[in-house]
Amino acid sequence: MPSAFSHAIAAVAIGGVAVGGRSRAIIWGLGALCAVAPDLDVVTSFLFRIPYTHMLGHRGLSHSLVVAVVLGMLVAAVAHRTLAESPGAANLWVLFSVATSSHGLLDAMTNGGLGVAFFAPFSNTRYFLPWRPILVSPISLHIFFGYRGLWVMWSELGWIWLPAAVVFLAALALRRRVSRKAVETPGDRSS
Ligand SMILES: [Zn+2]
Repeated sequence: MPSAFSHAIAAVAIGGVAVGGRSRAIIWGLGALCAVAPDLDVVTSFLFRIPYTHMLGHRGLSHSLVVAVVLGMLVAAVAHRTLAESPGAANLWVLFSVATSSHGLLDAMTNGGLGVAFFAPFSNTRYFLPWRPILVSPISLHIFFGYRGLWVMWSELGWIWLPAAVVFLAALALRRRVSRKAVETPGDRSS
């Protein structure tokens, strides 16, 4: 898996493209939490001694598209009711589902571990993408904060953080340009 930071950053970039407005920071934050959530299976696998290859093991059901859609729906329902300004429940549902499924997609681009059970609970077949440039992040914190962790972060900086930053800043610039034009338009009409 890429590290939790990288999953969160990818989700913030997706949020930056999809959502603006006053509640955007909260929505981006919720998207980041959705994107990190699938790796909670590391905890449940450890607690209940679930093998990696099991459907409930690491990169199993929690990384599937079904769970992404269900989690996206739940978070969207709560966010839509709670936020003062919301872009609409359906839009939030799509955003949070895409943010969650981005986790499995990035995992499937790593060079280690087992693949991702995208189609669980219907199938436990594990998939990788044909292109796997991202170094797999060690689960152990001891290793992560060591020499190998530095290589992993370097790999994630290039393959996730940098593209995410470009996408995020481009979306922000585009949104600003559109809103500036919207402000200028009434003046144009009156002149
Ligand atoms: Zn994962």
